[in-house]
Amino acid sequence: MTAKILEGKYFAAQIKEKCKQDIEMLKTEHQLTPGLAVIIVGENPASKVYVANKHRSCEEIGIYSEVIELPASTSKQALLDKIEHLNCDPKIHGILVQLPLPEHIRAAETEILNAISPAKDVDGFHPVNVGKLAIGEEHLVPCTPYGCIKMLELADIPIAGKQAVVIGRSNIVGKPMFHLLLARHATVTVCHSRSKDLANITRQADILVAAVGKPHFVTVDMVKPGAVVIDVGINRIADKKLVGDVDFEQVKEVAGAITPVPGGVGLLTIAMLLHNTVKAACIIHQVNVKALE
Ligand code: NAD
Repeated sequence: MTAKILEGKYFAAQIKEKCKQDIEMLKTEHQLTPGLAVIIVGENPASKVYVANKHRSCEEIGIYSEVIELPASTSKQALLDKIEHLNCDPKIHGILVQLPLPEHIRAAETEILNAISPAKDVDGFHPVNVGKLAIGEEHLVPCTPYGCIKMLELADIPIAGKQAVVIGRSNIVGKPMFHLLLARHATVTVCHSRSKDLANITRQADILVAAVGKPHFVTVDMVKPGAVVIDVGINRIADKKLVGDVDFEQVKEVAGAITPVPGGVGLLTIAMLLHNTVKAACIIHQVNVKALE
């Protein structure tokens, strides 16, 4: 059996098209243009590429986009002041601070991210939004796990009643993935670096999500035949090649469906950032957001 390949670009295009239509409606019916501000501190080349991609994606679908480039020497207070200014800026509905921060302010990362108003926290990292997700009130949800869920939903892959296993317990991927799957009535197990007999657990999974950060970590013997395998990992190996956490070539021979890397869930992350920006604009302006889902 060869797995169905879940191509990220196919699902990302659907999400972006829906955002574009919602934005046109907001512009014509509510005179509202959703706005995203991305702050980048310093000269990290990879961060610059990510920020440029986000800016271009916003422009493509009609989101107003501001990129705020601050020098690497920016103090914690100056950054907090900038965030406070954006919290009050009516043109801006989503604020994102590109990580990693320069060394001298890295220890203050949590304080800096928590300074973003929960209403404009399109990354979904603020404790208020984390708490809402944990009690089943999804507000602004972290983009990568949200993208995984959207992909399952758009691919008509049932979640309710399924055994789901998430490998990884980070605040960015593993834990929100747990909450999203649980809220959709899966029976969810979260594994991590101290889990024992991992393969025995992962072989139970109808839906297996790998968010570990280790190339080819999930091998074919860890996957139940027919399982849906979502590979969140992005790992650079020799010759600058990108691979996921899953041994794609082997696992695709037993899985029912599988996401490739590159070209898988990574593409959904930006799409969900756009979705969250539109959603934040709707909530701030009290436009019915149910229609966006
Ligand atoms: P992280 O380092 O914060 O977390 C890794 C998790 O893996 C930890 O919870 C750890 O307990 C677990 N782990 C490590 N070794 C393990 C082992 N031997 N057995 C079981 N669990 C083990 O990483 P993260 O931020 O969650 O990211 C995970 C991967 O996803 C990385 O490759 C990252 O680049 C990628 N990622 C991709 C996107 C995207 O847009 N596609 C977004 C975020 C992260």
